Amino acid sequence: MNLIKDQLLAQYTTLKIGGPADYFIQTNSNTELIEILKSTNIKPITILGNGSNVVISDSGIRGLVIKNTSQEIKILTNTSDTDTKFNKTYTQRQENEPDKYLDFAKIDYDESGFPVSEVEISSGCPLPYAINCTLDHGLTGLQWFAYIPGTIGGAIVQNIHGGSYHIADYLKSVKCFDLNTKKTIIFLKTDLNWKYETSFFLKNSNLIILSGTLNLFQGDVVKAKSVRDAWMLQKVKIQPMNSPGSTFQNPSLNICQPIWGEQKSAGWIIDHELNLKGFSIGGAQISPQHSNFFINTGSATATDYYQLVKHVQNLVKQKFGFDLIPEIKFLGDFSKPSK
Ligand SMILES: Cc1cc2nc3c(=O)[nH]c(=O)nc-3n(C[C@H](O)[C@H](O)[C@H](O)COP(=O)(O)OP(=O)(O)OC[C@H]3O[C@@H](n4cnc5c(N)ncnc54)[C@H](O)[C@@H]3O)c2cc1C
Repeated sequence: MNLIKDQLLAQYTTLKIGGPADYFIQTNSNTELIEILKSTNIKPITILGNGSNVVISDSGIRGLVIKNTSQEIKILTNTSDTDTKFNKTYTQRQENEPDKYLDFAKIDYDESGFPVSEVEISSGCPLPYAINCTLDHGLTGLQWFAYIPGTIGGAIVQNIHGGSYHIADYLKSVKCFDLNTKKTIIFLKTDLNWKYETSFFLKNSNLIILSGTLNLFQGDVVKAKSVRDAWMLQKVKIQPMNSPGSTFQNPSLNICQPIWGEQKSAGWIIDHELNLKGFSIGGAQISPQHSNFFINTGSATATDYYQLVKHVQNLVKQKFGFDLIPEIKFLGDFSKPSK
């Protein structure tokens, strides 16, 4: 393992923005990850998966940044147990312009009658690889998360959603390294409170996720592959990769009902109420493809990006009186503008 000083971080994010880490190291297995977590005195520690949900400040990140690329997938059992207690997380799925998007209702189906197998996937494993690998082993469930460019660790931290599913729906347990005790600890999914786009781990940054054990179905692989392909085709048209994903969570029905009489997505509000599709500050732009995706047109600074997010939040607050909550994570110091 090679500890690097002042490593620029932009290249480790989908947005391609971000200053240097004081110290940077890449770990290629959980053995390496645990070794560095146990031995280092450098603080604080920040883990980067694929950097597909983060905006890193222009001044970078203090302390140690670990780029986690562990890629182990272990199929643990071939059980025929059908009682998986498959409880879906509450789903806040919003399609205000269904003519523009894939009709999700047409491809959604329930696999909970199928037998299950347990699969342990290390946290640095890229989701696209995990999806293809498990499907190739006859295991279904992850197809709903096609085209999400993160790692399993990032997916669990964020409790990602795809269609009407969340990653927590498939989790059995999560293995972590606790920076406070310097020990590994396993959490059962049922011990934790899972919600739309948030998790216990977001609020407990002392816990570094090492792996997730998932209950996947010995389901209909052909059907699952067709869902994966349909999702990819739709998402490639409307979700630009030079972004950190959806900027804001969709506001709840309770917030939207008194204003619009129904739930509206963050993208619909930015597009139809603020008319900001294509609007930019410096090199940061509200994507012409999808108003809840803010992109780097090539020259954006983190400050441009931050100001664009704040601008939209301020307009929504002024016009409708509620706060749009960011789904993206700001890492580093955003209190001092870079220019
Ligand atoms: C084109 C595009 C489409 C997307 N589509 C979706 C979508 O459909 N649904 C969705 O929910 N999201 C979507 N996203 C957002 C993003 O891909 C997911 O949130 C993803 O799971 C983040 O994983 P990551 O490895 O890139 O995390 P990172 O961006 O690297 O990190 C995110 C946060 O998690 C922390 N973290 C990462 N790994 C660990 C670990 N092992 N232990 C502890 N903390 C950790 C980081 O410190 C950071 O705070 C999309 C993004 C893009 C660019």
